[in-house]
Amino acid sequence: MSTVADLLRGAAPPGDGEARHEAELLLAHALGRSRAWLFAHADAVPDDDQRQCFDALVAARRTGTPIAYLVGQRGFWTFDLAVTPDVLIPRADTERLVELALERIAPDAACDIADLGTGSGAIALAIASERPQARVLATDASDAALAVARGNAQRLGLGNVTFAQGDWCVPLGTRRFDLIASNPPYIESDDVHLGEGDLRFEPAAALASGVDGLDAIRTIAAQAPRHLVPGGWLLVEHGWNQGEAVRAIFDANGFTDVATAQDLESRDRVTLGRVAG
Ligand code: GLN
Repeated sequence: MSTVADLLRGAAPPGDGEARHEAELLLAHALGRSRAWLFAHADAVPDDDQRQCFDALVAARRTGTPIAYLVGQRGFWTFDLAVTPDVLIPRADTERLVELALERIAPDAACDIADLGTGSGAIALAIASERPQARVLATDASDAALAVARGNAQRLGLGNVTFAQGDWCVPLGTRRFDLIASNPPYIESDDVHLGEGDLRFEPAAALASGVDGLDAIRTIAAQAPRHLVPGGWLLVEHGWNQGEAVRAIFDANGFTDVATAQDLESRDRVTLGRVAG
């Protein structure tokens, strides 16, 4: 008769705070409860099905499956997003891009915003939630990713987001936008990190982009000017060591006011520029 406390002790070696935290997330998920519930019910005895479910989750975690895929969600901005292995797990770094976008969207303006390669919908839904007057178009090449993003929009009750399938700016058609944002794949295709940690389980197309990692950003920067209003902004997330290269790509495509912003750890993270007004 294992209690909640026994199961947690069994899954995490004493003193390993991270393993303990993960065990709590997985047990809460197996029981359909919150972590707070676990703390208040340490003596509760999960039934056999629940225990087997927990054991299977712990085993999957030991083989490296990301926690977010096991529990099916990840916190981003002010909400939890459903995630599946069809989408990149949203990262806190990307909230920097959302902040920079919001600084450029007037609170009550009925403007047009696009999020290219939306994945779980993270960027599009964060902007849509903060700017209810904005019309947000979220695109992705993957139909499976769009299904996840659509589900998230529905669950969050965000009616000002629409979705379109296709590569980068192609699904924008002839529309012009006030701001285009993207967290595209930007890892070098032979980067050893692709074989480590969570990255092993995430969609390859969401992570890597050519030998220097910049193929997607080159395409986006080349296509975006035709889809922006005069003075409209393009914002892309990239790696900490890609700021200079991305600014050069923006410059080569005629963007003005080109600059790179840093993330919370003072590393280059987002480059932005606007088309001439
Ligand atoms: N836009 C999504 C995110 O920021 C997905 C990004 C991607 O798949 N590269 O999480």
